[in-house]
Amino acid sequence: MLRKNIQTVLGLIPNEKLRFCHSHEHLFIAPGPSARVNPALRIDDLEKTMEELRMYKELGGQSVVDAQPVGCGRMAENLAVSSRKTGVHIIASTGFHKMVFYPEEHWVKKMDEDKLADIFIHELQKGMFTDGDYKRPEKAVPSKAGIIKTASDIEGITPEYAKLFKAAARASKSTGFPILSHTEMGTHALEQIELFAKEGVNPDRVIICHLDRDLSDTGYHRAVAETGVFMEYDTIGRFKYHSDMDEAKFILEMVEAGFENKILLGLDTTRERLLSYGGRIGLGYIKEKFIPLLLELGISQGVIEKFMIKNPSIALAKRSETI
Ligand SMILES: [Zn+2]
Repeated sequence: MLRKNIQTVLGLIPNEKLRFCHSHEHLFIAPGPSARVNPALRIDDLEKTMEELRMYKELGGQSVVDAQPVGCGRMAENLAVSSRKTGVHIIASTGFHKMVFYPEEHWVKKMDEDKLADIFIHELQKGMFTDGDYKRPEKAVPSKAGIIKTASDIEGITPEYAKLFKAAARASKSTGFPILSHTEMGTHALEQIELFAKEGVNPDRVIICHLDRDLSDTGYHRAVAETGVFMEYDTIGRFKYHSDMDEAKFILEMVEAGFENKILLGLDTTRERLLSYGGRIGLGYIKEKFIPLLLELGISQGVIEKFMIKNPSIALAKRSETI
């Protein structure tokens, strides 16, 4: 019997069924504080997102991680409906985002570590809350989250963030689900990893996001990868940061340095980059545009399959052992 260890919004699936997977996207974000920070962070049209998912599936995409956590515009019901109707596996996030995305009196800011951990664990084991954007979450649906989102801002893990990181670590340890961690422009990754380790979370249960916003310091990327975390590279098709060729060459360097088993890819899409919302990139971009570039540089099909299939099937799977 196949091990069912990856928790999608429609239930646990065998690791082998995940297949081609983007490890960090935004399929839906409800109108609210996030969209007030950045209008591109409103992705709330069920039909349009399903159209995007259908295009992705036609190109061979099977799975997507939705990185929007509870209380921060996540649309749990839409995630379940769109997965059911399009056949694309969706892994939803519990956890928390940067404080800038929450109103001043939000429960994420006020609740203590134990209660936060309880909410995250509820979402992973019983079902996701649908009413947490403004008030303390109470109403849940049967669909569960399958990953714990964490985030630090440019000033690092301040006491306000430390409480949240510890609650996330506790949720990961007690459920076996992995952590997907936002870094602001790639900063403070080592600090995050150190905190997780201190709280008993093995680095191979942690996926570090956005380090590739800045490609200037290979040594820093290597130091982060050497801890054993997964490196989720998602600054693809984002030309205000760098070209795709620079990104591809950097990934080649990381492969040559021995980290091919640790790399995951995604687009970290927003409204203005999703084709179905009138944007310019679309979920098919990695398959259609970026993978050919990696092949051109000499990265083998087998290694690319690791980035898209094998590595996500390990990184996203539920496990019980901790350090
Ligand atoms: Zn994101």
